[in-house]
Amino acid sequence: MPVSFTMASFKMAALAFKTRFAPSPTGLLHLGNIRTALFNFLLAQREHGTFLLRLEDTDAMRGHEKYAQALEEDMHWLGLHWNEGPQVGGQHGPYAQSERDHIYKEYFTMLEAQGLAYPCFCSEHELAISRKTALAAGRPPRYAGKCRALARAEVAAKFAKAEPATLRFRVEEGKTLEFADKVRGPQKFNTDDIGDFIIRRSDGTPAFFFCNAIDDAVMGVSLVVRGEDHLTNTPRQIMLLQALKLPVPDYAHIALVVGADGAPLSKRTGSKSVQELRESGYLPAAINNYLARLGHTYESNAFLDAKTLAATFDVYHLHRAPARYDEAQLMHWQREALLHLPMEEIWKWMAAKVETMVPSEQREAFIHAVRGNISFPADALHWAQIVFTDSLPINHAATAAITAAGKNFFDTAGQALEKHGTDFKALSETLKRTLSVSGKSLFQPLRAALTGELDGPEMVRLLPLIGVERARKRFVR
Ligand code: GLU
Repeated sequence: MPVSFTMASFKMAALAFKTRFAPSPTGLLHLGNIRTALFNFLLAQREHGTFLLRLEDTDAMRGHEKYAQALEEDMHWLGLHWNEGPQVGGQHGPYAQSERDHIYKEYFTMLEAQGLAYPCFCSEHELAISRKTALAAGRPPRYAGKCRALARAEVAAKFAKAEPATLRFRVEEGKTLEFADKVRGPQKFNTDDIGDFIIRRSDGTPAFFFCNAIDDAVMGVSLVVRGEDHLTNTPRQIMLLQALKLPVPDYAHIALVVGADGAPLSKRTGSKSVQELRESGYLPAAINNYLARLGHTYESNAFLDAKTLAATFDVYHLHRAPARYDEAQLMHWQREALLHLPMEEIWKWMAAKVETMVPSEQREAFIHAVRGNISFPADALHWAQIVFTDSLPINHAATAAITAAGKNFFDTAGQALEKHGTDFKALSETLKRTLSVSGKSLFQPLRAALTGELDGPEMVRLLPLIGVERARKRFVR
């Protein structure tokens, strides 16, 4: 291959914008995890780059296939489709770490061959004592370097005795490692505080941050957006990549999502899984509009469609302070999303709950009537029951309004109904004229008798759905 061609393709690869989501499939995705996926997705979209999905399933994980499938489903549901990764493929597969052992082996061998990694025979017990001693003496609890300079013969003898060994990366002493984090700004680490670290465990499995760094580099990831809990891994990862002469991506470490109590989101503090949110009827656009503003600021406070969410997302508008989860905000975006949803989509969204109750010729009118007053399919069911069934529970406040209006009010309302049918405007105007009532004393009792409640969708839209026959019965007081 001519050199110029190699150079050109190298340059292209270096320039291509690629982000990734690299979940460990150990459980269902919750809002905190999926926010990281969303940020990476939006950035890739904005730059017309690639969004990659990689499954970090190295450890012997139980049930990871089930969780991998669930997370792929969650991502597709939210519209976070990846351009490279499981199912869709790409040039850098396989995309599950459990299938990449041969690649990690190659890099272990390379590091060992260059003397940049060495076997360490120290036991857990020895290491714990050494850490304690260092801490007691006010030194950083780094590896003391006992196996750093073992003679070849010594190493061979230990292997011959089948002594378990980890593999440690040899960290250059007395160096400063710096990088510019796109969210947290300039970062500076002293290599003496880090010390030689384990890249392969004694059972032969690679350390998490080793695979993670190698994969980002060889998969051509140019920007890593991830939780700040990984910030302290980063200097180690940069050292590894530099030693292996692999490209180092840019990093953006985002603040974690916390609950109302300021502690990281957990089940207890109200974090629901994406699956639970989907099942209760949250809309993808609501979750995306909410999460894209959780720890990130847009200039616009309006509901944004998927394209605009991406086009106006900015890595420099990510916050350093922890993002506080607020269910009321999520509800706000849920209502907004519903108001922006096309009719057919609203029907699909509520159909499972209401389809047996809403006559097909009244479907559109029903959606028009209730869409501004509902947040979930269960709310649609509530209104369908009021409108399309005969039994009508009447709440306390509505009962009071009915009693206060009195029998004469409803007799007159019944007569107006016979005259005007379900034309609510005409009916209420007739009542107003005949009884000289207006405002609350006119509209409250009507709504109370017809729906059993004092609040709800516009009566002009509801009455035609309730129909003359049912309305007639509800006016008998
Ligand atoms: N598998 C890691 C996690 O889920 C990925 C960390 C990263 O994004 O680099 O926390």
